[in-house]
Amino acid sequence: MPIFLSIPPLAAERYIVHGFSTAPMGSMGMTNAADPEQVTENRRKFAGSLGVKPESLTVIGAVHGSEIGRVDRPVSLVKDVDGLVTDRPEVTLFATFADCYPLIAYDPLNRALGLAHAGWRGTEAEIAKKLVAALKREYGSVAAELRVGIGPGICGDCYEVGPEFAGRFGPEVLKPGEGDRLLLDLVEANRRQFLAAGVLPRRIRALDFCTFESDRLFSHRRQADGTRFAAIAALR
Ligand SMILES: [Zn+2]
Repeated sequence: MPIFLSIPPLAAERYIVHGFSTAPMGSMGMTNAADPEQVTENRRKFAGSLGVKPESLTVIGAVHGSEIGRVDRPVSLVKDVDGLVTDRPEVTLFATFADCYPLIAYDPLNRALGLAHAGWRGTEAEIAKKLVAALKREYGSVAAELRVGIGPGICGDCYEVGPEFAGRFGPEVLKPGEGDRLLLDLVEANRRQFLAAGVLPRRIRALDFCTFESDRLFSHRRQADGTRFAAIAALR
């Protein structure tokens, strides 16, 4: 087993590098970290394992919104965004997760790349569509040419939400849970948004790896202690 996870079709792409850290690599979450220096070291090692420079890490603030920013040079932290796009190989997109989903969109024609953080709030605010729109706006990307990867997160059999979510999401991504609980399928919700934005079905691949079910990844629902795994996506 490799120490980090990746999505096969994206891993086969020649001009990008990407991966998702696993629990043995340690927590990548800086917020409420008991030992921030250890987190910095964990991030450095993860970057190194993918062959990217730690100084190039450009961290997505992930504020549970849906703003997508553009970066042209490495910045240690971009606050107030839940996604970033770039066409610069010297920028490594980085975000942390614990049940929310990493979304990666790659345009091989224009050599542009985006990474976003999709929890229920971002998904409700159509962050997948906004990621496609940002690539189109900034780099002229055509949706039908994009390669999309949906990383690990809490799956549609595990993600219990309250009955009020029936007003936020359609029945195609909700199913009945125990009592008045509902089960929300964030992968399907985001997949549908990518399709609606014009991405081809065969070019969307979900990792199908549930953070709640596997202790190889961190899960806020399973262990709410601030531990996070990370996603890295970079051009090369
Ligand atoms: Zn699950």
